[in-house]
Amino acid sequence: MLIDTHVHLNADQYDEDLEAVIERAKENGVDRMFVVGFDTPTVERTMELIDQYEFIYGIIGWHPVDAIDCTEERLEWIESLAAHPKVIGIGETGLDYHWDKSPKDIQQALFRKQIALAKRVNLPIIIHNREATQDCIDILKEEHAEDIGGIMHSFSASPEIADDVINKLNFYVSLGG
Ligand SMILES: [Zn+2]
Repeated sequence: MLIDTHVHLNADQYDEDLEAVIERAKENGVDRMFVVGFDTPTVERTMELIDQYEFIYGIIGWHPVDAIDCTEERLEWIESLAAHPKVIGIGETGLDYHWDKSPKDIQQALFRKQIALAKRVNLPIIIHNREATQDCIDILKEEHAEDIGGIMHSFSASPEIADDVINKLNFYVSLGG
């Protein structure tokens, strides 16, 4: 079975051709799709899609680039939605030092909060890391993310770090675009 673990069918770029995209994926053997929400509108859309399509599952969280916009209330909202049986992960969360919309300390605090949230609801986490590998690994270790594991999305660090992430932190890595 092929599972696409990271699709953004919740983005408005798919408003016109969502059905056609899903159809093509199914024709090519993709039997499950995990739609990843990362802010208020995309999380809302993810929840609609998982109710609408039997083979679509949801991953919901808050993106590090927009960390500055995430309130306690938003996190509580995500935690309450995570009780849905078809929500199977928390994310995407992590660190992104490429863009400077959100300061590093705010990104790091939100990352730690989402790891804690994922532990409370007992779901794995999906990590977005860009130009922040060392801080990302340090936080995962400090917060004992190995208890829940997950996927390090679009992995771009060294084979040695991949070995650590897979064997010590209990994560998968994805080699995305
Ligand atoms: Zn993504």
